[in-house]
Amino acid sequence: MKLRLHFVVDPMGWLCISVVFGIWLYNTFFVPKLVLLPHYEEGHIPWALVVCYYLASALCVMALFRASTADPGRLPVDPHIPHSEREQWELCNKCNLMRPKRSHHCSRCGHCVRRMDHHCPWINNCVGEDNHWLFLQLCFYTQVLSLFTLVLDFCQYYYFQPLTRLDQEKFTTRHELALLRVSALTGVVMFGGMSSLFYAQMAGVLSDMTTIEKMSQFSSETYGTKRSWQWALAEVCGTRWKLLWLLPLRSRQPLHTGHHYRSHV
Ligand SMILES: [Zn+2]
Ligand SMILES: [Zn+2]
Repeated sequence: MKLRLHFVVDPMGWLCISVVFGIWLYNTFFVPKLVLLPHYEEGHIPWALVVCYYLASALCVMALFRASTADPGRLPVDPHIPHSEREQWELCNKCNLMRPKRSHHCSRCGHCVRRMDHHCPWINNCVGEDNHWLFLQLCFYTQVLSLFTLVLDFCQYYYFQPLTRLDQEKFTTRHELALLRVSALTGVVMFGGMSSLFYAQMAGVLSDMTTIEKMSQFSSETYGTKRSWQWALAEVCGTRWKLLWLLPLRSRQPLHTGHHYRSHV
């Protein structure tokens, strides 16, 4: 597996992705430290719950890393255009390069992206044909992790037995309430935001419409088609194996050669 890295030089994007990474780091450090590990040591919860939290956290940060560093579908300077697809290509009037239809020029990245969905500052990258599946994974795992965090924060106060072996002088013990309130607040914000984004993204995938096309009346009449959810997701993820849809550490191969110019991440 060869994973090529792609970085966008944009200080505003770096700031946004740092905020997202900071929220992940905060909860991955404090939730086990305040809730999971002390309750596991006192025998209140099984070890499997601790492992599940770290697994959800690892999948979430892997999806973030891959979505932000994968090539979204940048066009090469001198692309090979199959003869049968020539009428499906057009010239970009901003970078003066040939590109397949449904590509868009991203002014933040400074180049065209195949089947571009949108530019996302929170991952500091475009979302296009080659990394859309990673963006969907990121939305999914962020929902899982933030909901898990919210449930644990809630249980810490209303359900779990009180801890008996607590060092009252420790920073985390003295500031437990404030630390958990920040965790619950970030959990509500991330779960709410990601749920609505994931719903909108899935509606777009199922109707074969990008976010850019949805905002354009002309394109919505041209491209929107209804497909089965299995086929739509298989095409976006580049595989029919449903388990692989959930794995961020793999490369994507397009399912078939259609009218889009294909490559792989
Ligand atoms: Zn362009
Ligand atoms: Zn972009």
